[in-house]
Amino acid sequence: MANTVKDAILRGRKTVETVVEGGLDTVETVVEAGLNTVDAVVVKGRRTVESAVSLGRRTVESALLGRSTMQAAVLHGREDIRIEEVPIPKAAVGELIVRVGAALTCGTDLKVFRRGYHARMIVPPALFGHELAGTVVEAGDGVTAFAAGNRVVALNSAPCGQCFFCERGQENLCDDLLFNNGAYAEFIRIPARIVAKNTMLVPDHVPLEHAALTEPLACAVHGFEDSHAHAGDTVAVIGGGPLGLMILHVAALAGCRAIAIVKHHGQVEAARQVGAAPVVQTASIRKAIAETRALAEKNRGVDIAIEAVGLPDAWQEAVELVRKGGTVNFFGGCALGTHVNLDTNRIHYSDITLRATFHHTPAICRRALDMIAGGRFQAQAFITGHAHLYELNRVFEKLMKRSSEIKTAIVP
Ligand SMILES: [Zn+2]
Ligand SMILES: [Zn+2]
Repeated sequence: MANTVKDAILRGRKTVETVVEGGLDTVETVVEAGLNTVDAVVVKGRRTVESAVSLGRRTVESALLGRSTMQAAVLHGREDIRIEEVPIPKAAVGELIVRVGAALTCGTDLKVFRRGYHARMIVPPALFGHELAGTVVEAGDGVTAFAAGNRVVALNSAPCGQCFFCERGQENLCDDLLFNNGAYAEFIRIPARIVAKNTMLVPDHVPLEHAALTEPLACAVHGFEDSHAHAGDTVAVIGGGPLGLMILHVAALAGCRAIAIVKHHGQVEAARQVGAAPVVQTASIRKAIAETRALAEKNRGVDIAIEAVGLPDAWQEAVELVRKGGTVNFFGGCALGTHVNLDTNRIHYSDITLRATFHHTPAICRRALDMIAGGRFQAQAFITGHAHLYELNRVFEKLMKRSSEIKTAIVP
């Protein structure tokens, strides 16, 4: 495995020279390795990578630009993803074309796979996938911050910067939030607004698949910061999915006592690994409430409860977990039209703060990438599998069965 160009690229060797240093000296080995990247070089009659290099193709990415089509996952409807040959996008003014190094599966994508659409983000047939990092292969006119060869993480959205909410620094609530999809592909077009506001250089020592965690981590950091926790506070997180685990990890890193409340056996170990202690595992909400409250002196409840499931029962549960004066964050979005019954007496007379954090802002995205690059954040704990683009259907089917996988890195 270690001897393929694809692995070399995944390890961050982005020039043909470093691939050559790695011992793959002919174009044939490149092609045999299963990567159809260098056909353009072969077609031009260059038998060796060295000759391609001497003729000025410094990067594997530039060799790729000789092609006009790419493989991409196209969502056609409910549980219907097809890998199709589609045109490689071209960069218009202000845009970037990024060769995807890794695209990560996400709970939102799983929802989209199950339902076949997303009201705000995606209407089939459409390219999809939104957590990615990769290498710039083309920069459109007017782009000055990035150039071909740069390793970047490009977020899934960008705010307008001009509306009422953007001007108040609440860019996550922007009236005109622009979303981008298409990460499950060899290349992705990054719209000008995302290039300008939500694309960042990835430091050399950070693997692309780790950098791709920036988007979900930004959501987790936002939810945690919005809950106004302090070091030493007890924070209970309901839900052992990727975002629940990330919030637990962020809380633990901030010096909080992070209590995980999970349903499934496979989530217990994962929660422990990211720093949760203790882990309450039960399918019964009553039991979860009793056991969690008992973890604080005199059963008084936790300082902060964060709901990261997106179900009305869990929203209600969160309110029952906190102490007087505590804070609840309804972090998990429920299906459209969902209503919840809450005990108004409890909320009022116990002086409980209710919050509901949505999405992220450009400033938080930068903090999230800094955390990943800083080394304390255990990025590798969140990526539990790797798969090729053509295995995407199988990957989602597995995720639907609630396996112990957290995120799978899709490598085109
Ligand atoms: Zn996501
Ligand atoms: Zn705006």
